Amino acid sequence: MSHVVVLGAGIIGITTAYYLNKAGHQVTVVERNAQAGLETSYANGGQLSYSYVAPLAGPGVVPKIPPWLLRADSPLRFYPRFDFDQWRWCIAFLQACNRPQSEISTVHLLRLAYYSRKLIHDIVANEPVRFGYRRNGKLVIFSDQASFDGAKRTLDFQRAFGSEQAALDGNQCLDLEPALQHIRHRVVGGIHTASEEAGDCHDFCVAMEAVLKSRGVTFRTSETVQRFVVDTKDNQKQIRSVVTDKDEVAADAFVMAMGAANAWHAKTLGFYMPIYPLKGYSLTLDTSRADVTSAPHISVTDSAYKVVYALLGNELRIAGMADIAGFNTYLDPVRVNLLIKQAKAVFPDAGDYTADLKPWCGLRPATPKGTPILGASPIANLYLNAGHGALGWTLSCGCAKVVSDMISGQAPEIALEGLTLAH
Ligand SMILES: Cc1cc2nc3c(=O)[nH]c(=O)nc-3n(C[C@H](O)[C@H](O)[C@H](O)COP(=O)(O)OP(=O)(O)OC[C@H]3O[C@@H](n4cnc5c(N)ncnc54)[C@H](O)[C@@H]3O)c2cc1C
Repeated sequence: MSHVVVLGAGIIGITTAYYLNKAGHQVTVVERNAQAGLETSYANGGQLSYSYVAPLAGPGVVPKIPPWLLRADSPLRFYPRFDFDQWRWCIAFLQACNRPQSEISTVHLLRLAYYSRKLIHDIVANEPVRFGYRRNGKLVIFSDQASFDGAKRTLDFQRAFGSEQAALDGNQCLDLEPALQHIRHRVVGGIHTASEEAGDCHDFCVAMEAVLKSRGVTFRTSETVQRFVVDTKDNQKQIRSVVTDKDEVAADAFVMAMGAANAWHAKTLGFYMPIYPLKGYSLTLDTSRADVTSAPHISVTDSAYKVVYALLGNELRIAGMADIAGFNTYLDPVRVNLLIKQAKAVFPDAGDYTADLKPWCGLRPATPKGTPILGASPIANLYLNAGHGALGWTLSCGCAKVVSDMISGQAPEIALEGLTLAH
């Protein structure tokens, strides 16, 4: 047994601590907020989206970027900055926008996502956690034939890797989800995956924090990681301790799970992690007074606007947007109002849009290829669990188990090709 310090208590840090504790390690979690799951894991889209993992850097993306940047209602916004890391990330992203790379990333992500699904099912079956979890399936709708045809090609491609999905025409989409009636005119078709799931990521983090505390995991909350004390032995760097604003914590191993902030800390340690924040927004609409055909009963993605909808208990979580705007969590009212307008057009009777919709934004820790960075780093006892982008909730358990196994000296249960810093 060794003492492992997990840095960060978002969904990634929490699940990593869970598997390390299960493996018998002494675990300490350091988190700058008072509780787990208060940053990007707080009000995300809620979708456990195991079969929709194709990276943002897809083959058809480059020609779409100029119109997106010009449109006022664009899902993507680029705020250029005098920031070398921003440009470096954007160039790598553009280089990844081709079919071969996109398919390679999709295969790696599917492997990880299905592994994660199996592990989440184990947790749901065995742990006292309530997080609005439901297996209600997901429907991705398309408003133009070319996008729908592209999605059908992805469906065919993914079938060989275990995805069970169906392509539906517009009428079939409406039969499946009658709440889409207000946009019936623009639903050309959809891809339905019955096995997709949803749940509240923040509720999961909080419930797991309680479970972990009851099993002896130490939470050093309201404590901020500032720097590392590094020793060099036989030309190999090793972290002796982490210095926080309150103390210095020594351990045998450390796991970086600080979301978008990981890249900055890696830089202070002398290595580059290709992670940049992609800011997204969400709303949470009370649906308790809506009738059964007004709010969607399955998760929906409106691909034309890149907005996702998931029913979490009596609330509809509405999430979207990707703003390349650096490390800022300013809640831009223009973007919030746009999201409200888009949601209201799709599900106008799902709830009262004049009530408090709990607008929120978070920074997706995105890599150019869309694949996370797991395991070894250039520092001997520093492990990485980083760069989960738009899929951190979906991939969390798989990534955490992989990293925990590596720290325990065991071979991970899935191949790590394409999922490490070295690739
Ligand atoms: C709008 C939106 C919608 C999304 N929808 C989905 C979805 O439907 N499905 C899905 O799978 N994923 C979704 N995601 C992505 C998912 O939310 C993220 O990938 C995931 O939350 C990242 O988790 P994390 O633990 O790495 O980061 P975080 O949740 O940000 O956790 C990092 C933690 O590290 C802590 N920390 C940082 N720096 C320090 C420091 N110096 N000292 C101490 N602590 C520190 C932070 O306080 C934080 O608690 C969405 C994201 C957004 C923004």
